Amino acid sequence: MTEHVNWREALPGLEAYEQEPLSAHTTFRIGGPARWLLCPKTEEEAGKILNICREKSVVPFFLGNGSNILAADAGYDGVVLSTARLDGLSRRGGEIVAGSGVSLAKLAHFAAEHALTGLEFAQGIPGSVGGGVRMNAGAYGGELKDAVAWVEALDETGEKRRISPADCDFSYRRSIFCKEPLLITAACFALRPGEPAEIRAAMEDFARRRRDKQPLNYPSAGSTFKRPEGHFAAALIDQCGLKGLRIGGAQVSEKHAGFVVNVDNATAADVLAVMEEVKRQVAARTGVALEAEVEFLG
Ligand SMILES: Cc1cc2nc3c(=O)[nH]c(=O)nc-3n(C[C@H](O)[C@H](O)[C@H](O)COP(=O)(O)OP(=O)(O)OC[C@H]3O[C@@H](n4cnc5c(N)ncnc54)[C@H](O)[C@@H]3O)c2cc1C
Repeated sequence: MTEHVNWREALPGLEAYEQEPLSAHTTFRIGGPARWLLCPKTEEEAGKILNICREKSVVPFFLGNGSNILAADAGYDGVVLSTARLDGLSRRGGEIVAGSGVSLAKLAHFAAEHALTGLEFAQGIPGSVGGGVRMNAGAYGGELKDAVAWVEALDETGEKRRISPADCDFSYRRSIFCKEPLLITAACFALRPGEPAEIRAAMEDFARRRRDKQPLNYPSAGSTFKRPEGHFAAALIDQCGLKGLRIGGAQVSEKHAGFVVNVDNATAADVLAVMEEVKRQVAARTGVALEAEVEFLG
């Protein structure tokens, strides 16, 4: 049994929203209200939230840009800790230190402005630094793990740790942060000097390739399923003739079979129904069991 906390009284000055619709904080544009959405502005404030949560046996959900999340229609009767205001960004020599709430797009553009190469691939990934590090986000041959110099995170007691890339235990779309309840507050990226025109050209090329292939005109959470060993989820779904499969407002994208898109006020139940149907048909026809890449909140 968790105890209720009135966060405005517990931490005066904290940016705290009650019954905040999660649809406004996820790229799927789906999700009912979070009982509390807390937006700490400093690491200290985040640490205090974690401490109170631990004392009251509340397990907070860490929210970055909500670009890999399907939030329940009924919402989440708990605490969502958003990193949106942990948005510091600075450069020293070849290193950039970014707060976990900085968007990967902003980080990549900042690196480009400073003629630093190594993050061009990240500009089209719609996540935050925190979510990106946790998922070891990557595209077009690059992954965040290739640039991370260190990560700072708070444990459940609010104590700060600086974690080396080796201890982050990065693998394909995974890291230690998928296993341990650590709130990433900042990360440092070590980059190389580059030619501004080449950096810009690479970023534009990646953006064009994304626009050509991905259904960016509809809300989604990117690739719905994990890449199954030895296969590509999108190719299997396409092969089974499931492009365009629609239930309620959710649809397997006609442009990219790997994406389920919100075409018309979809509910989480619509998305889940599409995912179940895709899994059922792909398993029946190809023998491959697809697993959700998207994470569930609520
Ligand atoms: C159109 C589209 C295209 C995409 N393309 C790509 C792509 O090319 N490559 C790719 O890798 N991904 C892609 N994604 C998926 C998504 O952008 C990534 O998984 C991204 O890393 C998620 O970051 P986020 O900040 O949105 O995290 P969220 O979705 O908010 O959270 C994801 C997970 O990380 C946790 N988390 C978030 N912040 C923190 C933190 N500070 N500390 C600890 N845990 C945290 C959450 O609790 C959750 O478990 C795409 C998504 C969309 C919608």
